[in-house]
Amino acid sequence: MQTIESNRELRQIIVNARKEGKRIGFVPTMGFLHEGHLSLMRRARQENDVVVVSIFVNPTQFGPNEDLDAYPRDTERDCKMMSEESVDIAYLPTVETIYPEGFTTYVQVEGPMTQVLCGRSRPTHFRGVTTVVAKLFNLVQPHRAYFGQKDAQQAAIIQQMVRDLNFDLSVVVCPIHREPDGLAMSSRNTYLTAEQRAAATVLYQSLCNSKAIINDGERDAASIKKQIQEQILTVPGAVIDYVAIVDARGLQDVDSLSGLTLIALAVKFGNTRLLDNIQINV
Ligand code: AMP
Repeated sequence: MQTIESNRELRQIIVNARKEGKRIGFVPTMGFLHEGHLSLMRRARQENDVVVVSIFVNPTQFGPNEDLDAYPRDTERDCKMMSEESVDIAYLPTVETIYPEGFTTYVQVEGPMTQVLCGRSRPTHFRGVTTVVAKLFNLVQPHRAYFGQKDAQQAAIIQQMVRDLNFDLSVVVCPIHREPDGLAMSSRNTYLTAEQRAAATVLYQSLCNSKAIINDGERDAASIKKQIQEQILTVPGAVIDYVAIVDARGLQDVDSLSGLTLIALAVKFGNTRLLDNIQINV
């Protein structure tokens, strides 16, 4: 595995790989890798000749009072894990490389899609995500880019950006990788105390229960939402940011379930905000 910091070096490798007709798979991450990230790398490894993984804790996607400085980092461990997954190139740019002095251009998906769900409590978040992902796409020039369904809104917004800006690549959305007790894996799970960690299993349980009642015939979004909220509030310390039932593509609220539907939630335990979701084809 080659570890690269400079854009020039990266560009050279990409130009050569493309000249040789190699297919490039790309997995953008913020590091502090876990099995969820590795599942994306394994998929990329299966489907491409060259696998590039970036690790960049992107400052523009954090709000002023969010956890940018506290975000967990362990590059040495990450490099060992990537190497064990046969990643070809670990791209580890500095903040100055991505946002040099004088940087003023941002990429923003407009409209309701970025204003709902996480966009409500994190109004500048997706602008930071689309800006850095657009830059990374230009630098890495992948044929396929891999994202997790865990960040369902992010994946939908990136697909929108790729369509709107004619990026010549396929976005591959991979399933949520979970702990044995169902908690969706996340770098932020390390923030949880033992008590919060135990309580957090309610998120996936509530989603599974909602699936069961939908399978029994329930279609009313308000009543499904209410059941999820009530179950989450039975555990100590859970503060709901949102529970939403939306159409999976446009992410707009639905009153009655039909077609591909996303049930998504964000819940805080202390300062730690956790996401989870399920998709159901009704
Ligand atoms: P992050 O480092 O949190 O920005 O995540 C990098 C990529 O890994 C994103 O596309 C995430 O959606 C994806 N990811 C994070 N957690 C998981 C998970 N538990 N299962 C699958 N993909 C994940």
